Parts: sequence; C-alpha cells; structure tokens
Amino acid sequence: MAARLSLALLFVLAAVAGRAAAQDYDFFFLVLQWPGSYCDTKQSCCYPKSGKPAADFGIHGLWPNRNDGTYPQNCNPNDEFDPSKVRCDPILLLALVSSWSPCRCCSGSACLRLLGFRSRVTLTHWQVSDLMSSLRAKWPTLACPSSDGLTFWGHEWDKHGTCASDIFDEHSYFQAALSLRDQLGVLSALTSAGVNPDGGYYTLGQIKGAIQQGTGFLPFVECNRDESGNSQLYQLYFCINASGDSFIECPVSPGGRACGNRIEFPAF
Ligand code: 5GP
Ligand code: 5GP
Repeated sequence: MAARLSLALLFVLAAVAGRAAAQDYDFFFLVLQWPGSYCDTKQSCCYPKSGKPAADFGIHGLWPNRNDGTYPQNCNPNDEFDPSKVRCDPILLLALVSSWSPCRCCSGSACLRLLGFRSRVTLTHWQVSDLMSSLRAKWPTLACPSSDGLTFWGHEWDKHGTCASDIFDEHSYFQAALSLRDQLGVLSALTSAGVNPDGGYYTLGQIKGAIQQGTGFLPFVECNRDESGNSQLYQLYFCINASGDSFIECPVSPGGRACGNRIEFPAF
C-alpha cells in the first residue's frame, strides 16, 4: 500500500515538474521591418558587423500577444539568452572528432545523433550553424553601435521568447520566426503589384492590397518618418496562432502612429 502511494506521488511530482508554464497569450505578432525605413530617419542606423543586409524585409520579432491588446514580457529571467544555442561554429570540428558536446544547443527533439566513422557526430551542430547564418541574413540588427546581432536576438528572446516557453525553446523560437517570414515572401508580393522600394509614394490601400494579394494575409502597416518628416513604410504585423505554426486573421490591431495615405517606400 505504502509503495503504491509513493509511486502515485512520484507520478504527480513528475507531472508537475515536467509541465511548461501555462500559456498566457492568445496569438503571436510576427513583426517585419523594412531596413530602408529604419535607416532613413534622423537618428540613422548602423549596419551589422557582417555587412549591409540584403534589401529585403527583416524580422523584428515574434511576440506573444493577448486578444485584449496587452502582452506578457520578460517572463523567465532563469532562461536568459544563451548564444551557444544559435552559435556553435568554432567548436564544430571538435564535435566532429569526439562525442563531447561543447555547447548545449543540442536539446529536445532537435537533437539527433549519428554514429560517424570515428565517433559520434552531433547533427544539430550543423543545423545550429545554419540558424546563425540565417539569423544574420534575415534578422539583422540595424541599431547603433554596430554589433553581430546577438544583442538584438538576446533582447527579443528575453523579452518576448521566454513568454512562449510552453511551445518554444530558444532554438525553435528563432527557427519558427525564420520559417514564418520565409513563407510570406512580402517583398515579391509588393513588387509584383508595382509597389517598389524606389523612394516612390503609395497609398495604404495599395500596400495592404498588394500584400494580401501576394501572401494571402492582410498585415497591419506601421509607419515612421524620414529625415524630412515624410511618412514611410516601416513595419508589418502579421498574426500567427497560439501554436506558432499558422497565419491567422489578426484578433486585434497593434497600436501605432497613423500612416496617412501618402506613404514613401524608400530604397535600401
Ligand atoms: P522591442 O523591445 O520592441 O522588442 O525591440 C526594440 C529593441 O531592439 C530596442 O532596444 C532597439 O534598440 C533594439 N534593436 C536592435 N536592433 C534593432 C533593429 O534592427 N530594429 C529595431 N526596431 N530595433 C532594434
Ligand atoms: P479601416 O478599418 O476603415 O480600414 O481603417 C480605419 C482607420 O485605421 C483609418 O484611419 C485607416 O487609415 C487606419 N488603418 C487601417 N489599416 C491600417 C494599417 O494597416 N496601418 C495603419 N497605420 N493604419 C491603418
């Protein structure tokens, strides 16, 4: 009897310990930014250390949000950004010749092990190196002073990512944002409809219509001002379900400054 009771207690304890924090959000905003509009401002910008990013929409963040417009932030100080989970390149060779796993980026279902010719190879190290170069290309930081991006990604993970730890670990959070961005193809949606980043002006309807037509989803458009005070296309907000895997119609619009109806799309 006592043995059975302690077994039951053990199950309960294991269930409690293994449970992720309860979900405290209803959907995600995927926020993309046009680098030309981040840079074409009074305060200007700095290119990342890896060089000038491509002239394409980059990621700002993947933010858990609630249907009432509020959002949780900085949810888990014990799960602070760990760069080794997105950067393993320097020790990749060591991982190849030994079973030593020098960085802890290999975890959960992403961790696949292969039996190699001399020893074990941690496949995930390859995948994680891939993630680092994708982040540089598609989630570039433009803030000053120039940096390698880790500060920006760390800020996003600590402030927003840790609030979605019921479905994402650090690695899968960045991977999900990259994959969602790639599914959209926003820039080609715009250019196919003749909305080009050439310093010309477009109406809000032209911009939203082009993106809806080309991607299937209607974004919220946020504008900022260039050095002369002109309204310009700065950020796009798309909505993702609470499982983080499909685009949905937005339950609520983000706040933000009005765009007006004469919106510049600056070159980058
Ligand atoms: P948020 O707190 O809104 O998620 O992110 C804004 C923070 O990220 C600010 O502290 C900003 O300085 C920093 N940041 C670093 N790089 C960038 C960038 O390329 N774009 C934007 N919008 N913010 C950046
Ligand atoms: P409606 O809901 O009739 O499309 O727009 C109501 C108001 O919200 C209008 O002033 C319109 O300019 C503004 N609005 C609609 N969509 C967006 C958007 O994506 N971005 C911004 N900044 N304002 C919008």
